[in-house]
Amino acid sequence: MTAYHAAWAWLGGDDLVAHVTIVEEGGAIIEVTTEGPTPHDAVRLEGVVLPGLVNAHSHAFHRALRHRTHGDGGDFWRWRETMLRVAGRLDPDNLAELATAVFAGMALTGITTVAEFHYVHHDVDGDLYRDPNAMGHALVDAAHQAGIRIVLVDTCYLRGGFDAPLEGVPRRFGDGDAERWAERVDLLRRFYREDPMVRIGTAAHSVRTVPPEALQTVVGYAASNGMPFHIHLSEQTAENEAALAATGRSPTQLLHEAGGLGPGTAVVHATHLEPADVARLGHAGVNVVACPTTEADLGDGLGPFIELATAGATLAVGTDQQVSMDLFAEARGIEHHDRLRLRRRGVHSPAALAAAATVGGARAVGTMQRGIAVGAPCDLAVVDPGAPTLAGWSPSDGIAGIVFGGSAYAVTDVVVAGRRIVEAGAHHRFDDVVARIDRAVRAVLA
Ligand SMILES: [Zn+2]
Repeated sequence: MTAYHAAWAWLGGDDLVAHVTIVEEGGAIIEVTTEGPTPHDAVRLEGVVLPGLVNAHSHAFHRALRHRTHGDGGDFWRWRETMLRVAGRLDPDNLAELATAVFAGMALTGITTVAEFHYVHHDVDGDLYRDPNAMGHALVDAAHQAGIRIVLVDTCYLRGGFDAPLEGVPRRFGDGDAERWAERVDLLRRFYREDPMVRIGTAAHSVRTVPPEALQTVVGYAASNGMPFHIHLSEQTAENEAALAATGRSPTQLLHEAGGLGPGTAVVHATHLEPADVARLGHAGVNVVACPTTEADLGDGLGPFIELATAGATLAVGTDQQVSMDLFAEARGIEHHDRLRLRRRGVHSPAALAAAATVGGARAVGTMQRGIAVGAPCDLAVVDPGAPTLAGWSPSDGIAGIVFGGSAYAVTDVVVAGRRIVEAGAHHRFDDVVARIDRAVRAVLA
């Protein structure tokens, strides 16, 4: 049992609360008090304590692309060619090195759970590794090393496009059909059944790459096993146009017809939607994972986030292609995208944006985290109010300062399952996270 004393904590709403004692036992919060004496042996967290940040959409290996795609111009599809070249260089060993470094880097930024959207399953010829989940295990091991929770979102990816087979590097992504995908995922579920730090999730890469019958199989598999289901949705207008040309339907309609809309579903990006799509997604209570720095970097466009939230969707955020590894930037990016699109300010409340990076993300990835509350996992991130970007603000001013002035670099301490994995800005296991990322990126690109 450990008691933590937070100088300030965010317990929901727009205000921060002073002097909060959080007691954990066995990795879960068993008591939260805001009055009375602090236990004499409490561990003092001298900052603003937030629920651990949840990164609801990540491709760890995309970190190797940062700094390397800007001079080539073009659009998303041009970027994708470079991404596929990097995907073609991965193996279980270099992926483990890279993901360990990247996840340790995420831990330093306050991320306590990562949903890794994983589709590079097989070897460069598309053949199974001796262990068909060798790449998935590499990612889980990386999260273990880094000390954070992982939701391994195992992704079904079956074709190159509406009328195109898998060719070249994407052959690595394919299991042949949805039944074989499910058999492989069964092995993962059994393997990690007893591991409280691991959850196996499901995904279809997109309606472009998974045909309707297979989409139905994936959705059904997720539902019957109580697993989260994720999908990239309408990130590009070209996807909408191709869906319309091939099927006469929007991607959202296709997902709806496959039975894929519900509170256990997370749609990633949801950028180019018709009003009918927005209504349908909201009515179903889906989760929407916004990745604003990636969407800006790739020139995707501006998604209708406030419309989705108003219609009933829950917002979450992800670092996606790791162009930035800062969920504070992603959370305010939701607001900034809507401001740019609607040309007005104050679209979302600061509390709603903070929720997107914490409890909203937890809902999207299907974990039990629901803030600093009794019964929730004891996952915490501590922000230093003395950080340079917060100068002039004090915690009594409320959560808005953290949302609009906070930064990954302001995080000092991180607790996962009751254990401190980052203390005073240092990772408990690795003292060389930056050098590790550097080495691992170079190893993949060599
Ligand atoms: Zn993605």
